[in-house]
Amino acid sequence: MVFGSLSEAGGPLTAYAILDELRDDGFRAPLQVYRALDKLVEYGMVHRLESLNAFVACSHKGCSGHGTAAFAICDKCGDVREFMPDEVVQSLKAWTESNGFALSRTTIELRGICKNCRKVA
Ligand SMILES: [Zn+2]
Ligand SMILES: [Zn+2]
Repeated sequence: MVFGSLSEAGGPLTAYAILDELRDDGFRAPLQVYRALDKLVEYGMVHRLESLNAFVACSHKGCSGHGTAAFAICDKCGDVREFMPDEVVQSLKAWTESNGFALSRTTIELRGICKNCRKVA
């Protein structure tokens, strides 16, 4: 249900916004939502956007649990686009391997203005 409301939203939602949407379905405690989100993030179905303190459904349908995702976040309209930064992933991997760092997850967040908003301005 948590995943449903996230993918319907088509954009990032905070845990509290999700809780608001699911109140009618019997979700009452924020902890329930947080637990569900933790699991979804673990499965790679949902990504956590630190800079927005929000969650977004993974836009790669069928890709279960890719460890790296990049997001271009528009500061104007709030549009979020997910993409795979393959070259960046390669160089991050090279660094972590040569430094003995066990990487579990990478989320890259790009902040700026999207194409549509730049056209209007
Ligand atoms: Zn993803
Ligand atoms: Zn925009």
